[in-house]
Amino acid sequence: MDTFIDICVAIAFFGVAIYLYFLPSTIARKNFHPDAGAIFLVNFLLGWMLIPWVICLAWANKEKEPIDLKNGDVVFGKKYKSCPYCGETVLSVAIKCKHCGSDISSKPEVSDA
Ligand SMILES: [Zn+2]
Repeated sequence: MDTFIDICVAIAFFGVAIYLYFLPSTIARKNFHPDAGAIFLVNFLLGWMLIPWVICLAWANKEKEPIDLKNGDVVFGKKYKSCPYCGETVLSVAIKCKHCGSDISSKPEVSDA
């Protein structure tokens, strides 16, 4: 029965090791980090060396820089526009501004090419 326990401990240890190894990627993905793909690559390929792993962890936890959205900008596959009433950025498919509650169902006055 000792062998069985040894195998269980080994599997549990392996699982924890895998979890810790990919922790930077997990954090980046959960935070919708813009560089999540790059973090995963570096984490996956170089994470076995300690220093790149630590860099990945710091990178994944890096504060997101505020994105200055303009009319027609596409972020994470979603197109944005500015509310004509309050100027806040809302999804281009929105029919009601989530900031000021105005009806913005009419076509956005985006004149981008
Ligand atoms: Zn508004």
